[in-house]
Amino acid sequence: MGARDKLRSFFETNVGKVVKTQKLRKVAGVSEYARRIRELRDEEGMQIRSHIDRHDLKPGEYILESLQRVPTLGRGISPQLRNEILERNGFTCQLCGAGPGDRDPFNPNRKLRLHIDHIVPISQGGSNDKDNLRVLCSVCNQGRANIQPLSESALNILLRIRRLPRAAQKEIYKKLKQTFER
Ligand SMILES: [Zn+2]
Repeated sequence: MGARDKLRSFFETNVGKVVKTQKLRKVAGVSEYARRIRELRDEEGMQIRSHIDRHDLKPGEYILESLQRVPTLGRGISPQLRNEILERNGFTCQLCGAGPGDRDPFNPNRKLRLHIDHIVPISQGGSNDKDNLRVLCSVCNQGRANIQPLSESALNILLRIRRLPRAAQKEIYKKLKQTFER
């Protein structure tokens, strides 16, 4: 049984319980257990959460929330292709410009994750072609930015500006520059 299989069955027997890195490392028998967990989550749709997702978890703690699998956006996209798209897009969300360690503007305790998004969804005939793939952060990926209004903190205003077309960004930049250089 491979490390990934061992981790999968360990999580499934401990569904709903907080499990710690130390234990997972023992179960998997490899030091790259973190990568295997990522695969279970991103490729198999297992609902494994860490301190990045839930602020009641400490670093090094994981929980499988449910045995139910969620549809994975990255399905059919090889790790190589995923890396290629991430690199091509500069590890940056193509809608708002957020990067991997950035805070979730709706929940400062969470960090944003980057996803590979199909521009034309598979369900509408889109393919895994490179031209149909782009990087989105978890907020843009879930369309949350369009549903919940952001509070007016400087960080959120900046995030909103990053969502604007380049021409509008330039105009704001020019106006601000004029103001501060006077
Ligand atoms: Zn985004």
